[in-house]
Amino acid sequence: MDKYIAANWKMNNDFSDIPSYVEYLDKNLENKNNVVVCVPHVMLKTFADAANGIVETGAENCYFAEKGAYTGETSAKMVKSAGASYVIIGHSERRQYFGETNEIVSKKIAAALSAGLKVIFCIGEKLEQKENFKEVLNEQIVDGLAGITDFSDIIVAYEPVWAIGTGVVATIDDIKTVHAYIKSVLKEKFGVDLPILYGGSVKPENSAEIMALEDVGGVLVGGACLKADSFAQIAKSR
Ligand code: PEP
Repeated sequence: MDKYIAANWKMNNDFSDIPSYVEYLDKNLENKNNVVVCVPHVMLKTFADAANGIVETGAENCYFAEKGAYTGETSAKMVKSAGASYVIIGHSERRQYFGETNEIVSKKIAAALSAGLKVIFCIGEKLEQKENFKEVLNEQIVDGLAGITDFSDIIVAYEPVWAIGTGVVATIDDIKTVHAYIKSVLKEKFGVDLPILYGGSVKPENSAEIMALEDVGGVLVGGACLKADSFAQIAKSR
């Protein structure tokens, strides 16, 4: 199975970047399997229309309620109907700046799955939790996936918070150790073996070494995905 190459534009780029970004990936990527680009909600439809049949489109978040008086929110069904096939849930920036708890993350995962979206479920410890990473990740996994019975559309992304946007990448040994731990929790608690992506300052210079690791199912890329050429180089390194 091809490893996943997922981009997270966050609150960057613009409508005007979409045509050239997609065209670059189309022309320069021979293998476009499992390449996903997650963009802000407002750009989903435009991106999905441009990317149709080239790469997959993802959202960066969705709300758990189906509909109603939730001003400013976007439901999973709306995300899906805009043309997205993936959604990132539980990104550390959502947890940090928007108060997302494991309970909220769990409700969002359930809503996304029932809308027919594939979920990129983010977990990761903060710098001050590094010594205790097992406890933190175990809780995020067990609480985040509570109640899920069908795991076929779930991908986990391990993103140590201290490595996101900082230029500090986890060492190869750290990644091996933590991915093996996450794998063991998924097996022990849920009996599943899911792809586990690594995210945190991935760039063209380090992506090949990271993706060569057996327990790494691909990468989730922030800063280095904003330009199509750098994202394409990462995708080619798998
Ligand atoms: C992210 O926020 O998902 C991420 C991986 O960011 P960066 O690559 O910039 O560290």
